[in-house]
Amino acid sequence: MRLILIGAPGVGKGTQAKKISLKFNIPHISTGDILRSEISSNSELGKKAEEYVNSGKLVPDELITGMIKEEFKKDKFKAGFLMDGFPRTLEQAEKFSELLKELNLNLDKVINITVDENEIVRRLTDRVVCRDCNKVFKLSDFAKDQPLKCDCGGELYKRKDDSEEVIKKRFEVYKKQTQPLVEYYKNLGLLENIDGLGTENEIFERILARL
Ligand code: AMP
Repeated sequence: MRLILIGAPGVGKGTQAKKISLKFNIPHISTGDILRSEISSNSELGKKAEEYVNSGKLVPDELITGMIKEEFKKDKFKAGFLMDGFPRTLEQAEKFSELLKELNLNLDKVINITVDENEIVRRLTDRVVCRDCNKVFKLSDFAKDQPLKCDCGGELYKRKDDSEEVIKKRFEVYKKQTQPLVEYYKNLGLLENIDGLGTENEIFERILARL
């Protein structure tokens, strides 16, 4: 199974990506997770990407496509993959189509999760993430004196780009640079639109029904 998940920030791509990758036993590639890990280890790529990520702008295409090309040298992607947060621009989508062609691989589906904008802002301002396994939680599910810990024991933290100001910026960027991908993949006959309102499992079932 070769899949791409697209959708505005906060629609639940990461959560669904983990479930899909477990169900089909395919590697999950989140370019956001890779970049955050590069930033926290202060690597060369991390240093170049930090300012963009923290301010909600997109990291330049050539850095991202270089990173993906490196990832795809690993054999594990031949059997299948799930892309989460990539591609994010038309240029990335075109470069990715070229790379897949070179590798003789076809995409099966592009899942576009859709949620109303007000709901997304509410979700993102309430979001905390595990530093160790990247699992997402709702801050409002924790009592005031309860420690912010994941089931894996990792510390939960608020992403720097989940502040109201940066969320607005990420939305603008999404509309301008990422939304055109919906048309691109629709024209290729690969697009499946999924309503992202509901419980995690309801949304997961909707996705499974289209695969
Ligand atoms: P995400 O975790 O997918 O919300 O990504 C967080 C941030 O990482 C984005 O706001 C961008 O700054 C950067 N980023 C992640 N994926 C990409 C991509 N495919 N192209 C450019 N920037 C990206």
